[in-house]
Amino acid sequence: MSDLPDEFKCTITNWEYIYSLCRDVSDDVRRDEFEPDVIVALARGGWFAGRCICDFLGMDDLTSLKMEHYVGTAEKSGEPTIRYPMPEGSVEGKDVLIIDDIADTGGSIKRAQEYVEDREAGEVRTATLQLLQTSEFEPDYVGEQLEEWAWVVYPWNFIEDMVDLISGVMAKADEDAFSKRDIRHYLKEYHEVDRIGMEIAQPNRLTEILTEMERREVVTMTTPGEWALVD
Ligand code: AMP
Repeated sequence: MSDLPDEFKCTITNWEYIYSLCRDVSDDVRRDEFEPDVIVALARGGWFAGRCICDFLGMDDLTSLKMEHYVGTAEKSGEPTIRYPMPEGSVEGKDVLIIDDIADTGGSIKRAQEYVEDREAGEVRTATLQLLQTSEFEPDYVGEQLEEWAWVVYPWNFIEDMVDLISGVMAKADEDAFSKRDIRHYLKEYHEVDRIGMEIAQPNRLTEILTEMERREVVTMTTPGEWALVD
């Protein structure tokens, strides 16, 4: 979390909510009478949306482009780059819809659009499920515009993000050991994640996350019901 302050707002989402944003994007594409031949889903955040939008629009040509930009939760690493080139024939001569989860700087989706356009695609349009006001790029279709900047915790990388966030709050609070109640307290204090919101979005996940953090040797249980960061 080098580029951001160690306190920032997080919003935890669930599958139903994100699925409804996929439906909204699909409705807009249909209303526009845009009929893409292929969807390019940016890896990894755009995969779920890409698959769902194929279903809503009745499409079976789905391909992927791996962008690298963010290393961990809320951790930026320079310009977005393309990790693996696209197989020959993926987009040439086809109308394309590029989809990603969120545009923050907008750099990833913009870079993806340039890359696809350079490969002699037909019409190329872009979509994101969510758009932050920080974005310098405006996608053609947006599921939802967020009023306030937040790190959005998506259901497909819930554990990945929560491991980062919990180890971050433990390091910042700098106590010898943390109970579940302590962890919830600091998640609220540093990231505006309250217990009700988290339990409604992702019920009964805290024990699972802590067990996984132990397995990954990020934390250790010091006494029953209390955990500390592994040095
Ligand atoms: P960007 O190139 O800055 O628009 O960011 C692109 C990628 O970084 C997105 O596809 C997300 O996977 C991740 N990302 C950036 N900002 C956020 C955020 N606020 N919440 C969740 N994921 C984010």
